[in-house]
Amino acid sequence: MTANDSAPAPDVSPLPAAFEERLAGVEARIAAACDQAGRRREEVRLLAVSKGHGPAAIREAAEAGVIHFGESKVQEARVKIPAAAGHLHWHLVGHLQTNKIKYAVPLFETVHSVDSLKVLQALNQGATTVGRTLQVFLEVNVAGDASKYGLAPDDVPSVLEAATHCLALEVVGLMTLPPFSADPEKARPHFARLRRLRDQWRHDSGFPLDDLSMGMSHDLEVAIKEGATWVRVGTDLFGARTR
Ligand SMILES: *Cc1c(COP(=O)(O)O)cnc(C)c1O
Repeated sequence: MTANDSAPAPDVSPLPAAFEERLAGVEARIAAACDQAGRRREEVRLLAVSKGHGPAAIREAAEAGVIHFGESKVQEARVKIPAAAGHLHWHLVGHLQTNKIKYAVPLFETVHSVDSLKVLQALNQGATTVGRTLQVFLEVNVAGDASKYGLAPDDVPSVLEAATHCLALEVVGLMTLPPFSADPEKARPHFARLRRLRDQWRHDSGFPLDDLSMGMSHDLEVAIKEGATWVRVGTDLFGARTR
């Protein structure tokens, strides 16, 4: 066999054209992973990450029964969320610049990406100003990956302490985005570590931290086996993004 013969095969299983079929495929994967992990299907929720896709894709997903949507950029969400009909729940999954907080607060119910003390406090301030309560996850940079946002594990206890004074925020759990690898098994130690840290911080802080937001299109099975309660799926629901 030459080196050429061992090159990866082209992707021969493109995503189905219809949203409903793609959703059914993702749902089947979630159900199978729950089954293998001995978890109930209701313990894991699906966040459909619609970033990079327009109103038609969101409408199609909503018609198929999706209610939780994730966006990563406030500028993009400011256009899309007001245009989307129905009672959808919007989650911010991307880094939040503090100068965007005034726009983010009215748009999102949940922020998965609280990645600094500054963002935590500014969000609390913004939510207090408009009389709103936001659910938040602390994003933890488990791998210490310099190219990624997220709190260093060592900084989380002090941020949790500060959160006890943030009365407009409800800290529901932790989120992580491991370094990308095509091999989902490479993400497992990061997911497992987040869960262990959660168990410790839950004990030390008194916050229940019930939710773990971890796992995306290519590694959701591994995340579910390691305790994810939210999987954030973009590509396998909406197709490839152009940006
Ligand atoms: C884009 C994005 C996702 C979804 O990723 P896919 O690989 O397309 O499923 C999940 N989480 C975050 C934080 C993202 O930015």
